[in-house]
Amino acid sequence: MDTTVFEAHESEIRGYCRNYPTVFASASNARQVDEDGRSFIDFFAGAGVLNFGHNNPRMKEALIDFIQADGITHSLDTYTTTKRDFVSRFHEVVLAPRGMDHRMQFMGPTGSNAVEAAMKLARKATGRRQIVAFSHGFHGMTLGSLAATANDAFRQWSGVPLENIHRLPFETAPGGDTALAEYREALADPSSGLLAPAAFLIEPIQAEGGVNVASKEWLHEVQDLAREVGALVIFDDIQAGIGRTGSYFSFDGMGLDPDIITLAKGLGGFGTPIAMNLNKPEIDDHWSPGAHTGTFRGPGLSFVAGVVALDYFTDDSFLDDVRAKGERLRERLVKIVEANPDRGWEVRGRGMIQALDTGDGAFAKRVQKEAFDAGLLIGPCGSGGRVIKLIPPLTIPEGDLTEGLDLLEQAIDAATR
Ligand code: PMP
Repeated sequence: MDTTVFEAHESEIRGYCRNYPTVFASASNARQVDEDGRSFIDFFAGAGVLNFGHNNPRMKEALIDFIQADGITHSLDTYTTTKRDFVSRFHEVVLAPRGMDHRMQFMGPTGSNAVEAAMKLARKATGRRQIVAFSHGFHGMTLGSLAATANDAFRQWSGVPLENIHRLPFETAPGGDTALAEYREALADPSSGLLAPAAFLIEPIQAEGGVNVASKEWLHEVQDLAREVGALVIFDDIQAGIGRTGSYFSFDGMGLDPDIITLAKGLGGFGTPIAMNLNKPEIDDHWSPGAHTGTFRGPGLSFVAGVVALDYFTDDSFLDDVRAKGERLRERLVKIVEANPDRGWEVRGRGMIQALDTGDGAFAKRVQKEAFDAGLLIGPCGSGGRVIKLIPPLTIPEGDLTEGLDLLEQAIDAATR
């Protein structure tokens, strides 16, 4: 096939096409096949979208039935049976068991939409404009969410000053966070000129920023400070949520109580886009109808597949399996670090988001290339792309997990030589 038109006219802005120099044609669970019939194991899962695998058969069946019954694929904000099913199933599976009374607010398709709305709502609800965001955080590419994003390589594209953000260091260790303590003191001191914050916006596990895992204690310190100064807590669980860490939310079981939670990526299950915020009712009340709209907020296909995704969480063995596979990922990375003791590499993660910090972006890029050549898809993240992040579909079969890890180990060996 003549690929010249494709190559000349497809913008390379995201760069993924150059990282994976082939044309993919089909996919099933944790495997993608290119147009020449080469099979790749997918440890990237659409940047954390395909938690339930490519072409999940249960979702496929539900989607085919839905289409055959002339279901409504696009409904804006109007009620549909599929939206109602999704809302009640989400309540039943996620909110009710946790005693959460948050309201569900559907967004346009992307995580950036969800973060943007969360920041707007926090500002409206508190009448304040400053948002505290953290070093290495990634929250999206629209102007508000980009302002909260830390990486200057992304921020420099804004074309305008990105303001009303107070940046604090993301401290992963518990206790003794001096920056937080200094910030508390400065806020109490009128001569500091600091504005009281509307919200603290945090990824409990930073994904794009290099897989940095906040401790429960530190998250409590942040939440306590937020409460103390009358600010809201927004947890961005767009990449680490929806089962990725071995629990539905990445912060489950920690006794935390966020005011707003942003979800997207894996929520629609099938790669069918939908984003949603969970807002505490007293905060949600600050919206009025029409205050935050968007066209793609009634995606029937996403609701249908999303209900099937929720069904996975009614079976305890699913999350047990995620944790067990996460342990396998971690053990192998630890083994790789132990085999290379002088390199200062570090393993970080929880559940099925695990990473190897190589400290060297050029090296991580070589590993990515070697892995691709061997038939494994991985995506680097973190400062300068130095962290190799592993986020396979949660449904990856054992055999593919082992084979993928073997290929990764070989790729690292080859890149080290
Ligand atoms: N927040 C987090 C934690 C993310 O990982 C991402 C996407 N990588 C976003 C927000 C933005 O989502 P989207 O790309 O769908 O706008």
